[in-house]
Amino acid sequence: MTVVVTDAIVLHAFDYLESSRIIRLLTRDAGLRSVLARGARTSRKRFGSALDLYAQGTVELHSRPGRELDTLGSIDIARSHTGLGASLERFTGAAVIAELALRFARAEADEALFDVVSQTLDALASAPPARARDLTLAGGWRMLLALGVSPTIDACAECHAPIDASAPATFSHPAGGALCARCAHLARGGRTLPPSARAALRAWLEGGEFAITDAQEVRAHQRLLREFVREHLGDDRPLPAYDAWERDALGTRAARSEQTA
Ligand SMILES: [Zn+2]
Repeated sequence: MTVVVTDAIVLHAFDYLESSRIIRLLTRDAGLRSVLARGARTSRKRFGSALDLYAQGTVELHSRPGRELDTLGSIDIARSHTGLGASLERFTGAAVIAELALRFARAEADEALFDVVSQTLDALASAPPARARDLTLAGGWRMLLALGVSPTIDACAECHAPIDASAPATFSHPAGGALCARCAHLARGGRTLPPSARAALRAWLEGGEFAITDAQEVRAHQRLLREFVREHLGDDRPLPAYDAWERDALGTRAARSEQTA
């Protein structure tokens, strides 16, 4: 048996048999793990609130070669992220980040990915609800960066020529980012990004913030991120939390235009 002690975040949990729960953890040193928490249902004292969704702390995992399911020895919570439950916008954003991690993280150490998920949940837990969407977008793009599939912003994805930051540019998902005017002319399709959209992507990928409150801009960014994930992580399975997040933004927009009409 191997014992691993590492930082971890609870991303998903469900009941297992009469007395236990299985939790899905993103860990710093062992990647994404499925872990059996024995007795978690029958004795609240055993793990307390440590297995609540998005709780983060230090875990001790016991794993055996050839077994996919680890056993939870202990969990010591450092951050409970309870603020995520205080607003729908925060919670929906956290669900998107968790869904992307559950889908695309691997069962091996990935400190960069762990740190992005942890920092994004921290930011969301205390975010003004109006900022939750752009903080989620920032986290999503930085997760892609950690997974090695980030887009080009200021150099052409095809020929590497610099692209004027103050001009609109074509963004091609298959090419992997922004294109210069010459390559855009040769490429089929692609979306035209205004300079502000590229400025947002640049800021997010550099780890900074870029506030976006205009509902239509948020919508365009949600679509761009979704399309990039589909293109570069090569996975056609549905992303229900992401879909709900996009629908929710649409609903908010419709409600706002009704109010102003
Ligand atoms: Zn080019």
